[in-house]
Amino acid sequence: MTTYDPNPYDPNNVFAKILRGEIPNKTIYEDDLTLAFHDINPQAPVHALVIPKGAYVSMEDFSARASDAEIAALFRSVGKVAEMLGVTQDGWRILSNVGSNGGQEVPHLHIHVFGGKKLGPMLVKG
Ligand code: 5GP
Repeated sequence: MTTYDPNPYDPNNVFAKILRGEIPNKTIYEDDLTLAFHDINPQAPVHALVIPKGAYVSMEDFSARASDAEIAALFRSVGKVAEMLGVTQDGWRILSNVGSNGGQEVPHLHIHVFGGKKLGPMLVKG
């Protein structure tokens, strides 16, 4: 497991490699500023990841440094992906793990999109 390190950005993280085309991915949606693809180890019938193309570790990094266009593009991409994956009728969930307490494994900001079943409680208790 990769250890979270908010600074500096690690250009060898797995999502940076996906963005450079060094690792394949099952792309759902792509535009100039974002990429969305299926998670390699899905935790629900629908499990996608939406990432900015810029080098941002986390949501606090992204919200502090990204341009308004990048921020808008990421959230528009999430909405588009949910529509494309057909989860909007029955409901869905987004999640972004940050840092050690958040359980972040890949140190490039990503938003998980889950759906396709009842997703249960927001957090595991205990
Ligand atoms: P995190 O725990 O950092 O929030 O989530 C990282 C996610 O990235 C995990 O759900 C994991 O399955 C996914 N993942 C890790 N490596 C790859 C990969 O090479 N390709 C894809 N598509 N997903 C990956």
